[in-house]
Amino acid sequence: MKPPAQFYVSNRVLKLNVGFLINDGPGHSQDSEFSVPPVRVAEDLDLEYIRGPIRLSRNKEGILVQGSLQVGVLSECGRCLDPIEQHLTIQLEELYSYPVTAGVEFCVHEDGILNLVPLLRAEVLILTSRGVLCRDDCKGLCPECGANRNHTTCDCEAAVGDPRLAQLKQLLDRK
Ligand SMILES: [Zn+2]
Ligand SMILES: [Zn+2]
Repeated sequence: MKPPAQFYVSNRVLKLNVGFLINDGPGHSQDSEFSVPPVRVAEDLDLEYIRGPIRLSRNKEGILVQGSLQVGVLSECGRCLDPIEQHLTIQLEELYSYPVTAGVEFCVHEDGILNLVPLLRAEVLILTSRGVLCRDDCKGLCPECGANRNHTTCDCEAAVGDPRLAQLKQLLDRK
């Protein structure tokens, strides 16, 4: 079951203050280790955890973000709709321009805040857009009664809707 909304911390934890790095000037960098509790990244994305190293490097253009982050995403099986937790690894490598530059997607804001939310959201959505199955041989839902065939059997399978298949079944049954 998905935890209630108040279980998740605010995405403020993903808005990093990099003012000191901006001031330090090109050539400086900061390494840190992310360990974020369940967080509401965006209206349409909650992550169960974010863990891993992240490096912020100041260069002439702005701040280069590099990281290899493990994240947990709750989703549902594409076939039987059972809830599943996906464990994904996200490679981040993105330049945040400084100062804010028109037409550039990722920028460090004038107040020194680097907002990881749009970057993280985009990367996670790319990885989850393919959909997943709870297991490779998931039996899915019965199209007749909606029963989850992984957990239960139903009587619908005996009733074959397609008349050609029904004929075939009769032939097979006779053997
Ligand atoms: Zn499934
Ligand atoms: Zn059924």
